[in-house]
Amino acid sequence: MIKINGNYLKLQASYLFSEIAGRVAAFQKANPEKEMIKLGIGDVTRSLPGACISAFHSAVDEMATDEAFRGYGPEQGYPFLRDKIAEIDFKSRGAEVSSDEIFISDGAKCDTGNFQEIFSTDTKIAIPDPVYPVYLDTNVMAGRTGIFNNGRYENIIYLDSTMENGFLPDLPEQPADLIYLCFPNNPTGVVANKAVLKSWVDYARENRSIILFDAAYEAFITDDNIPHSIYEIEGAREVAVEFRSFSKSAGFTGTRCAFTVVPKDCMAYDTGGNSHSLHALWNRRHSTKFNGVSYPVQRAAEAVYSEEGSRQAKDLVDFYMKNAAIIKEEISNLGYKCAGGDHSPYIWIWGEMDSWDFFDLLLNRAGVVCTPGAGFGACGKGFIRISAFNSLENVKNAMSRIKTTLMK
Ligand SMILES: *Cc1c(COP(=O)(O)O)cnc(C)c1O
Repeated sequence: MIKINGNYLKLQASYLFSEIAGRVAAFQKANPEKEMIKLGIGDVTRSLPGACISAFHSAVDEMATDEAFRGYGPEQGYPFLRDKIAEIDFKSRGAEVSSDEIFISDGAKCDTGNFQEIFSTDTKIAIPDPVYPVYLDTNVMAGRTGIFNNGRYENIIYLDSTMENGFLPDLPEQPADLIYLCFPNNPTGVVANKAVLKSWVDYARENRSIILFDAAYEAFITDDNIPHSIYEIEGAREVAVEFRSFSKSAGFTGTRCAFTVVPKDCMAYDTGGNSHSLHALWNRRHSTKFNGVSYPVQRAAEAVYSEEGSRQAKDLVDFYMKNAAIIKEEISNLGYKCAGGDHSPYIWIWGEMDSWDFFDLLLNRAGVVCTPGAGFGACGKGFIRISAFNSLENVKNAMSRIKTTLMK
């Protein structure tokens, strides 16, 4: 008799987005004339930069001739892309990362989800709350947690991000082996400055821990003093892995390209206390289970680093950030406390009521769809997340409807 991996039974039904879809559908059915505005999802809405499209087309044409055709590429990605990333994303910001420390992949979701595989089952995990659910669920699947009890999994160190701590969690009191951090944060939109990141790097060095740093939103940082990469912090090369993605920075959510940086200085230990290179272990894992990103997609990603492409990608990000500024200003003017929106496409709003009640209020009275904070963890209760990924017109309309609904 075939048996399942029992850890899958511990997983909570990911009811967040299906519950939202259900409530939206019910409202739409009852009010067929009402036009809904969706500011809930974390997906971009604008087309790919023109430079990426041109590069994409040319690469497809190359595949049409026997001379230029490419079969399997290197599992780690083509040097033309890895070299540009090392130079432009890292070296130009004073972060020491070499091209062969970069692993190209088809998404930061897969990479942040898969990376835990190379650590032992008894690894002690620290995860922020609220959080992008991938980090938590993949550790549940791997058997690193107990059961779900009173809204939380047993055997996880939760890093509470609250209004009181400015959504910047304290260092854990008990030793954590593997620490997930995400800045600019999804869902709170908050960023970490150099001092905050340094305290985490120092903690990890003292405890011989590893930080998994998700920088999927680094392109949205507008203040040059905020680090874009954890490698801008001294010592981070020994203890941090960084995840990046072209999804939000250049509109690649449907095209799929991302990368993970594993410095050769990062070590993990066997039961005898001997050190092993994380880079070698991840290389082994990646080349065993992954066969590389499509050649045309890597050419399209390379174009993000051209003069034209980088300008176009920046225009995309600026466009969403103007929406974020409008949302933030309107919400603040209404007297609500909020975070994010300055270096992130997300605005995290203290609703002064239950998340789902606030969600229903905006849905039923304003026809605007947001995301209830409770779906991101226990600390998200009482918050909602509004996303800036939409057209300017829809954002303006949504905000004027919200204003009419919430005017105090
Ligand atoms: C959108 C997002 C990503 C990017 O995922 P891809 O798989 O590269 O599209 C990664 N981390 C967080 C927190 C995100 O919100």
